[in-house]
Order: sequence, then C-alpha cells, then structure tokens
Amino acid sequence: MSTVTTRTDALLEEVDRYSAANYLPLDVVIERGEGVWVWDVEGRRYLDMLSAYSALNQGHRHPAIVGAALRQLERLTLTSRAFHNDQLGHFLRELCEATGFERALPMNSGAEAVETAIKMVRKWGYRVKGVPDGQAEIIVCDNNFHGRTTTIVGFSSEAGYRDGFGPFTPGFRVVPFGDADALAAAVTDRTVGVLVEPIQGEGGVVVPPDGYLARVREICDLSGAALVLDEIQTGLARTGRLFACEWEGVRPDVLVVGKALGGGIYPVSAALADREFMDVFRPGEHGSTFGGNPLAAAIGRASLGVILEERLSERADELGRWFMGELRRIETPHVREVRGRGLMIGVEIEESSGTARPYCEALKERGILAKETHRQVIRFAPPLVVSREVLAEALGPIREVLAA
Ligand SMILES: *Cc1c(COP(=O)(O)O)cnc(C)c1O
Repeated sequence: MSTVTTRTDALLEEVDRYSAANYLPLDVVIERGEGVWVWDVEGRRYLDMLSAYSALNQGHRHPAIVGAALRQLERLTLTSRAFHNDQLGHFLRELCEATGFERALPMNSGAEAVETAIKMVRKWGYRVKGVPDGQAEIIVCDNNFHGRTTTIVGFSSEAGYRDGFGPFTPGFRVVPFGDADALAAAVTDRTVGVLVEPIQGEGGVVVPPDGYLARVREICDLSGAALVLDEIQTGLARTGRLFACEWEGVRPDVLVVGKALGGGIYPVSAALADREFMDVFRPGEHGSTFGGNPLAAAIGRASLGVILEERLSERADELGRWFMGELRRIETPHVREVRGRGLMIGVEIEESSGTARPYCEALKERGILAKETHRQVIRFAPPLVVSREVLAEALGPIREVLAA
C-alpha cells in the first residue's frame, strides 16, 4: 500500500516525536503570516481568529513594528540592566503616558509580569500597609488564568494546571469570579491585594456582571488592599477600550500588561504602578536578564504606537458590536451563549452538542483558525486590524459550522 505523505504530515510527525506533549494544537502547520492571514505549508490561506491569544492585536508582521525591530537589530539588542540602553527610557515613558501610571517595570512573559505584581503588592503590604511579615494574603478568583509559574498555578482552580505540581506558594485565597459580596467577605486586614482579570480569557471569555469591577475597586479602597488587574489579554484595545477596566471607570493600583505589547514579534510585558507601589523595589530585589532590553523596548514602542495611531480600540468596539450581533443571529441548537466585549468573543457550545473542539476543526477545514478554550467555548479574537468585509466573509463558514 502506498501512502502519500504531505509536508504537513512530515512536520507534524517531527514535532510529535521531539516535543513535550503539553499542547494539543490543531493539525495545521503555518509558514507565513501577514495582517489577519496565515498560510500553511500546503499553500492554504486561513483567517487567524485567535491572534495568538491576543498577542497579535496589530496583526502578523505589522510593517511599522517589523521596521522598528529591524532598525533596532542593526544597532543594539541586549545590554542587560547592568547598563542603560537608549530605548528603555523612551519605552517606559510612552507606556506610562498611554496608561496614566507613574512607573513601569519591564519583563518578558505575562507570567513574569504577574509575578512582579505579586512581589510588589506583598512588599507594599509589609512596608507600607504594615501587615506582619510573612502573613500577606492575595485574593484571586475562581476560574482565573494568570500564567504557568509554580506560584501562579498554585492558586489556579483548574485541576489540569496544578495537579502534580505542588507544593504551592501559600498566601492566596480564591473567591468566585463576578461575586463582589464574596470578595468583600474574604478580605481581612492581611489582604494586601486583589488580583483579577476584567474578563476571564482562558477561563472561557467570562464577562462579570455590570458594576462588578467598580465594586471590587470600592472594596479595595475600603479595606486598603491593592487592586491588581491582569490585562495581559483584555488590554491594549482588545475589548474596545485601551484597557477593559475603562468600561467601568476603574483605575487599578497595579496594571499588568503583556501579549500585544510585543506586537506579535517578541515577548514584552510590564507591571505598571504609581510610585507608592513601585518604589518598594530596591536595587537587586527584582529583575530579569532580558526584561527591558533595547530590542524589546523598540518593539514595545512601535507596538503601542500602532495601537494608538490606528485607533484599534475604536475598531474593536465597532466591529465587535456588529460581529457579536451577527453571531447571536445564527439560528442553531448548538450554541448556548455568545458573549464578550469588543473583539474578545466567546461562543459557548451546548454540552449536548459535544465540545468546542470539533467545531474548531471544522472551521479550520473552511479556512478559519479559532481555538477552543475551556472545553465548551470557541474564542473569536481576530487581529484588531481586521476589516468588516473580511469578518463578513468569515460569517458564511462560521454559520455553516455552527448550524450543522
Ligand atoms: C496569557 C495570559 C497570561 C500569561 O502570559 P504568558 O506570556 O503566557 O506568560 C497571564 N494572564 C492572562 C490574563 C493571560 O491571558
């Protein structure tokens, strides 16, 4: 029997043989990307509706970001923080000006920026709030996703994220997401911080009730706990505002950003805060070899520039409202709910219709790349540079798959 082996098969076999099995990707091997499109090794074109979990808000290889990266590659890429570089100050100033914070601490991955925020509010709790040493508590939400470090998975409620990885860092307390009363009841005088995502991304695009975030802010104010918002996924224009917390007029004490800050080119993250919080760090108390390197800083500046100059928040707001409306109009027994904000949209599949995975596979066959999250939810989060025409065209195959 002769078997035809495609390039895709060969590449899948190779990665299957040498890779750890910690992911379950769709069977598509991508070799090129531009804007909202990617091409696989067989030359097939797909609309990217995942955007690398919102790390590609500006689209694949945005020319302004690629240009900035190339120019910086020709000049200087790494100094470590043992020395200064001529890009970091500009990057941090532009980031602070865009977000309204006094200081920023640059890291690489999102998880590192979350860890930075955790260390910051703990130290602030001891030094400024006066919590007895070693007793600080941080309140987090059920169904959270903040990254994959041992400390962070220790306060996850997802068995698959934590089982077998203990013992875990103490000092975290979990309350239901979206329930401000439960949060208020959990706060003690040892609570140094409340860490929350404005909309839970990996948890299945879970939007809390209106007014929730404002009440969380109020509870933090009353109890003297720091509000730490993880906007790694919701931030940088994804939900139709530069940050999702703007929907409720909330300003956190610590804002964590990542993903799209690197423009889909390079890992760039940061924790932002005013001096009261940031100044707890003294030389040697925190750092990263690569954090704030000149290449990251140049890319971060360009990434932020594109988001602001191309008014990606407005685009996400306008297109998101329309697209979500269209998705809600699809008549099908398989969809339980369409929810989200801006272009962060989740389509929850009825349990009786199976999991979201086969729907994502069927979408892939029709040239649309989306990924299931939390078993039942298909996430639609295209690059924010997408046009209404392209989204309108995608509705055809989406209808076909959802209504089948
Ligand atoms: C992706 C994500 C993280 C982790 O970012 P990494 O760069 O993968 O470490 C943290 N929080 C949220 C809300 C995220 O979506």
